[in-house]
Amino acid sequence: MSLITPFDPWQSPLCTCRKKYSLSAYTGCSHGCLYCYASSYIRGFSSPRPKKDFLSRLEKEIKKMPADSTITISNSSDPYQPLEEKLRLTRSALEIMKDYEINLLIVTKSDLVTRDVDILQKFKKKVIAITLTTIDPALAGKLEPGAASPQKRLAAIKKLSGMIPIILRLDPLVYPLNTSNLDGIIKEAKLAGVKQIVTSTYKAKADNFKRMVKAFPEHSRLWNDLYIKEGKKRSNYLYLAKSLREKLIKKVRDIALAQGLEFSSCREGFSELNTAACDGSSWL
Ligand code: SF4
Repeated sequence: MSLITPFDPWQSPLCTCRKKYSLSAYTGCSHGCLYCYASSYIRGFSSPRPKKDFLSRLEKEIKKMPADSTITISNSSDPYQPLEEKLRLTRSALEIMKDYEINLLIVTKSDLVTRDVDILQKFKKKVIAITLTTIDPALAGKLEPGAASPQKRLAAIKKLSGMIPIILRLDPLVYPLNTSNLDGIIKEAKLAGVKQIVTSTYKAKADNFKRMVKAFPEHSRLWNDLYIKEGKKRSNYLYLAKSLREKLIKKVRDIALAQGLEFSSCREGFSELNTAACDGSSWL
């Protein structure tokens, strides 16, 4: 099986991204985000391991990529999860890729990405997306127990934003857990130097819903009503009712635009509200 694979091979009608590819050095992720979607389809997800012969395979595959290909690192694991500190496979991959005409997109919840600023700057076209769902460290510690604290992520944005375009993934919006201080999150992100806010609502899958309800039993009844009773099934996920999703997405949009930032929502069916591509590729 190839390491560099087409992004969204199922061509979801909700995905508006340009043609691109995914690459990940690791199978699984130890950040332990309660809402994680990838955990439902990867065995042993919370025990991450490096992909077999990752670097030698990457060296062969990257040579075959058409010039100007867009590669996103990564979608089903965090490229800068703790294992990367020791194994440095993401860094080694960047070392290999920097010699090719690649449009690079990175998505992470870790400040470890700042370690690689020297190599990242060698890519002509690159964008880093940092996910931040809250600025409350206690909530982040419950929701994303293995990821860097919000304050470390904001510090990483500050450090990188003068050199590399940074977008913020305010994603997912978990109503009402992290939706009462959207203004505060976006203002902090703007201060740190992001160019764009990307957002989407939490979509329930059996395993992530179980984790969410266990960690936040006080919201169990509400989430049961919103997702199980009133929610809508789309592409194997349970979505909130359209009216509530639209309200939340528009709220983020209004705040982002008022702050002079670009805005997009991801896989919500509201692409007419976007002012830029939802994967950050407008900044490549
Ligand atoms: S960082 Fe991403 S892949 Fe890792 S657990 Fe969190 S949501 Fe899942």
